Amino acid sequence: MKDVELDPSEESTYECFNCGTVVRSVSSATCPDCGADMRNRQTPLE
Ligand SMILES: [Zn+2]
Repeated sequence: MKDVELDPSEESTYECFNCGTVVRSVSSATCPDCGADMRNRQTPLE
């Protein structure tokens, strides 16, 4: 099985579960807007 390789030195896009705020960061964090958890949006929607 194959996992997506994540380079920790590169920015990824994260989206807030709660309010949908999108940020680019080198690591996951809490939403700057509401403080909720954020998820990685590494894989683009097609
Ligand atoms: Zn938020």
